[in-house]
Amino acid sequence: MRLIIIGAGFAGMYAALSAARLRDIHGVSPEDLEIALIAPEPTLVIRPRLYESKPETLTAPLLDVLNAIDVVYVQGSAETIDTKARVVQVATTKGTRKTLSYDRLVVATGSRLFRPNIPGLAKHGFSVDQLDDAIALDRHLHSLANRPAMNGRDTVVVAGGGFTGIEAATEMPARLRAVLGNDAKPRVIIVDRNNAIAPDMGAGPRPVIEDALRKLGVETRLGAGVASLDKSGVTLSDGERIEAETVI
Ligand SMILES: Cc1cc2nc3c(=O)[nH]c(=O)nc-3n(C[C@H](O)[C@H](O)[C@H](O)COP(=O)(O)OP(=O)(O)OC[C@H]3O[C@@H](n4cnc5c(N)ncnc54)[C@H](O)[C@@H]3O)c2cc1C
Repeated sequence: MRLIIIGAGFAGMYAALSAARLRDIHGVSPEDLEIALIAPEPTLVIRPRLYESKPETLTAPLLDVLNAIDVVYVQGSAETIDTKARVVQVATTKGTRKTLSYDRLVVATGSRLFRPNIPGLAKHGFSVDQLDDAIALDRHLHSLANRPAMNGRDTVVVAGGGFTGIEAATEMPARLRAVLGNDAKPRVIIVDRNNAIAPDMGAGPRPVIEDALRKLGVETRLGAGVASLDKSGVTLSDGERIEAETVI
C-alpha cells in the first residue's frame, strides 16, 4: 500500500510524521505501507514569520527527518491527480514527468495570497506570502539606505489590517530603523477598507491592538482601500495620496 502526501508545509510535514508514527504503533513495515511525500523542496518554510528580517533563515531542512522515519521524499510538483485511477502525475525539477499510484492521498499544498486586480500592484507591490516574496521585500528594505532621504523613502504602506497586516506593520518600524539608522523617523501606515482595525478579531482585543499601534507610531487609514500603486506611492479610494516607496 502507498500513502502519498503532497506538500511539505506544516500540514504535509505533520501528516507524514503522524502517519509514520501510526505505522510504527501498528507494527506495519515500510515495505507494507510506503509513505511518500511530494514537494518541490524538502524544506519547511516558516510562513507565519515571513514578515521578519532575514527571511532566508526561516526554513528548516526535512530530508534527515523524513529519512529517519522512513518516509520517501519525491522531489517535484504534483500536476494532476486522477482520483478514479488513483495516480498523481509529478513534474520533476529536471523537467521530466513521473506517475505515482496511491491507495490514500493527503493534499496539503497550502494557500496563495489573493492578489486583487489593482493597477500597479503586480509591478510595485511587495508581499510576505512566500519565501521568495519575503526575500524580495527584505532586499528592497536594505536598498532604501542607498536612496535619497526624500518623498516616501521612509514610509511603508501595508494594505490590509487583519492578522498578517498588523504583524507586518508592527515589525516595520524596527526593520526600517535597522536599515536607515536609529535617527530615522519611519512612517508606517495600515490601510483597510473596513472601518475598524483587525475586523475579524472583534471588539474585545481591539483596544489592545490600537494601543500597541499607537505606541509603535503605526498610523491607520480606515474606510478606504488602496485604489492604485505607482513607483512613488499609493492612491486611496477616497482620493488621498500617500508617498511611499514600500507597499506591502
Ligand atoms: C506572513 C504570514 C503570517 C502568518 N501568521 C500566522 C499566524 O500567526 N498563525 C497561523 O496560524 N497562521 C499564520 N499564517 C498562515 C500559515 O503560515 C499557513 O496557514 C500555513 O503555513 C499553512 O500550512 P500548509 O502546510 O497548509 O501550507 P504551506 O505552508 O503553504 O505549505 C504548502 C506546501 O505545499 C507545497 N506545494 C504547493 N503546491 C504543490 C504541488 N503542486 N506539488 C507539490 N507540492 C506543492 C509547497 O512547496 C509547500 O511545501 C501566516 C502566513 C503568512 C504568510
